[in-house]
Amino acid sequence: MDVLVLNCGSSSVKFAVIDPVSSQEEVSGIAQRLGAPEASLDWKRHGKKDTRPTPRAGHEEALRAIGNLLNELGLTDELIGVGHRVVHGGSKFSGSMAITPEVIAMVEECIPLGPLHNPPNLVGIRVAQELFPGLPQVGVFDTAFHQTMPPVAYTYPVPHEWLEAHSVRRYGFHGTSHRFVAKQALHLTGLSPEKHRLVTAHLGNGCSCAAVRDGKSVDTTMGLTPLEGVMMGTRSGSVDPAIIDHVAKALGKPEREILDALNKKSGLLGVSGLSNDMRTIEDAAARGHERARLAFDIFCYVLAKSLAALVVPLGHLDALVFTGGIGENSVAVRARTVEHLGFLGLTIDPHANATHGRSQNGRITEEIRPQALVVPTNEELMIAQDTAEIARRR
Ligand code: AMP
Repeated sequence: MDVLVLNCGSSSVKFAVIDPVSSQEEVSGIAQRLGAPEASLDWKRHGKKDTRPTPRAGHEEALRAIGNLLNELGLTDELIGVGHRVVHGGSKFSGSMAITPEVIAMVEECIPLGPLHNPPNLVGIRVAQELFPGLPQVGVFDTAFHQTMPPVAYTYPVPHEWLEAHSVRRYGFHGTSHRFVAKQALHLTGLSPEKHRLVTAHLGNGCSCAAVRDGKSVDTTMGLTPLEGVMMGTRSGSVDPAIIDHVAKALGKPEREILDALNKKSGLLGVSGLSNDMRTIEDAAARGHERARLAFDIFCYVLAKSLAALVVPLGHLDALVFTGGIGENSVAVRARTVEHLGFLGLTIDPHANATHGRSQNGRITEEIRPQALVVPTNEELMIAQDTAEIARRR
């Protein structure tokens, strides 16, 4: 009883075959550098890594190569469904959905909102339907978890026609991760599933935070696109939008290029001039690299301000959850961020933080209420569980 999970990004396809009940991963991998001569399919099975060149393979060829690999590994007979990560579901999806022609049409309608991600997501759906015609296919949307936000949280203070005519509003992303870690945090802390107030911080290359009240997202930092909110690896997060016009004029470049720089050349990379990788930033800062130190300082400062702001819709904090590559691994980011948030009643426990809270159910603060904790995310497992659930109902 396995589920194939597909995550078709703009230049890669990640995949995994997972047992949704035992959480056991049969195989996982990535087809990367798509379109380039050095494109390859890399995978891991039972702890052993393997790779095969797929020169110039695009999304479609990569998906077929994944299909062939699963056949060779004898993993297709056990499949009960295929779960697709879909990035932008606009306001159309508030939960995971069995893929139907109507659902495909709605994902197509959301292309203007997710121009880089929705088209490859749709290729993944089309090719998987062809490769596995008898299997249910399920769409799991990054935006869906945040559809419970009230208008006061999702409406931008801009001309209202922009919302009505062009769907300009906050959608939020990383919903699958926020939902997964919020659920896990309840098990770890013993908080009631009916009554809890959590702030979740997904800190990876992309970073977003969410306020979760009684299982529902009530606010989040990312917006119409994943550019808004906290500082990230290469994304600026929230900045004064007038910067775009100002810098475009100053450099004599089109505004689109400046927007591109806010997405790809800003954040940790932009400030440090060194790297978008938090490990490199921390190492360089420790060696006295001034701009790496500034990048680290801004990252934690902006993060703490955003986390504190998310307590407003909750009115009270039970737990702050750290997840994602940085949230799960960076002792320094967690320590500094929690230090900024001392006024909420959080005090870091240095020993527990150094061991990522492993010996005390993820908890890294001295206090139990409220507490900060580390919860490893597993978006693939969440997608596999949703897919299995929907496949069972059919
Ligand atoms: P993700 O997108 O979730 O894979 O996270 C990627 C980010 O996690 C990168 O910025 C990495 O530098 C960061 N990361 C991974 N391991 C560590 C670590 N041990 N310390 C600090 N940052 C880390």
